[in-house]
Amino acid sequence: RLADLAPVTTDSLLALIALCNADPRTDKIDVGVGVYRDGEGSTPILNVVKDAERKLFETQETKSYLGMNGDARFTELLRPILLGEHAGDRAIQGLQTPGGCGALVLAFKLIKAANPDARVLVGTPTWPNHIPIIRGVGLEIVEYPYYDRDGCAIQFDAMLAALRSARSGDVALLHACCHNPTGADLSEQQWDQVVDAVVERGLLPMVDIAYQGLGRGLDEDAYGLRKLIANCDEVLAAQSCDKNFGVYRDRVGSLWIKTAAEESSTTAMKTVMQLAREMWSMPPDHGAAAVRIVLDDPATAAAWREELAGMRDRINSLRARFAAADPRLAFIADQYGMFSMLPLSKDQVLELREKHAIYMADSGRFNVVGMSDAAVDRFVSAVSTVLAG
Ligand code: PMP
Repeated sequence: RLADLAPVTTDSLLALIALCNADPRTDKIDVGVGVYRDGEGSTPILNVVKDAERKLFETQETKSYLGMNGDARFTELLRPILLGEHAGDRAIQGLQTPGGCGALVLAFKLIKAANPDARVLVGTPTWPNHIPIIRGVGLEIVEYPYYDRDGCAIQFDAMLAALRSARSGDVALLHACCHNPTGADLSEQQWDQVVDAVVERGLLPMVDIAYQGLGRGLDEDAYGLRKLIANCDEVLAAQSCDKNFGVYRDRVGSLWIKTAAEESSTTAMKTVMQLAREMWSMPPDHGAAAVRIVLDDPATAAAWREELAGMRDRINSLRARFAAADPRLAFIADQYGMFSMLPLSKDQVLELREKHAIYMADSGRFNVVGMSDAAVDRFVSAVSTVLAG
């Protein structure tokens, strides 16, 4: 009976949002949730997106069904942004999905259909939602060490050793850039070694690229993905526009599949379209249509790149500010994207919440761009106080 369902342990991040909302202190700082905030502390709609939505409203003549692959022009326009020099390779095919999450679920379902015994190698720590997504599809997870939180460093040798000892056919889940939750990205030299290990062991690389353009730049953030494409017969990539276009709730993403030949990619595409049909049938249109309108005109596409650069610059300048304020926070300047992890105990995280009205995940992960300019000094001084213990 439905009444017999076991209680669900609430996502601790959602519980944190509720706690923060209930806090009456007016200077509270919410660095738990993962959305970009501007200098005023708000998450506005990008100008290019707002304009595209207006245009969409005025010109859209029907809302009749699209196909299971969603807006094909949207995917086509993303192709060069994501694939760079490989954009012309028709053995790489993409389809629109409901956000990066939709792409991840679809990718793992495809893997399960092709090789039910494949194991998925997942770095520790990773974005917490990776775990239930992979388990939900029925694939086995094998963890590999990724980041030492207290040493503030990537455990690269251990990561490489784990990849090198994996079974041929295993899946290597890799974050393209702006690693969530740590902000610790592989250098280009490290990517080169990871690619070698993936090729040597015959692993299937599965790249999660949810923050392209928010780290070093659009091309720089795709370095690892493109290097894998250049060297591997088969690659999967789950992409999201939700952050780099700021369309979080509109659920805009895509899944990309490379196989050795156009024919087998087409078969893989047809397989994922059937899998999509069984879940959401087709992805929601609105956000992808807005992104398509932005990218379809060189002038608005250039304006998006500027707005994106503005977000990236703000993230990186805040990182520099944290690092300059306290030597114990220096590592933050070497990291990328919206998150870093502070080496705090659970008690210290609680102290920040109770004494300083600063809300972050128990893991010490915080959204570096989660506060207004005015709140930065208070944030840094509270963290320094708590770290000094
Ligand atoms: N992958 C990672 C690493 C993420 O951080 C996120 C979003 N938090 C996603 C995928 C999913 O993004 P979306 O909101 O587009 O589903």
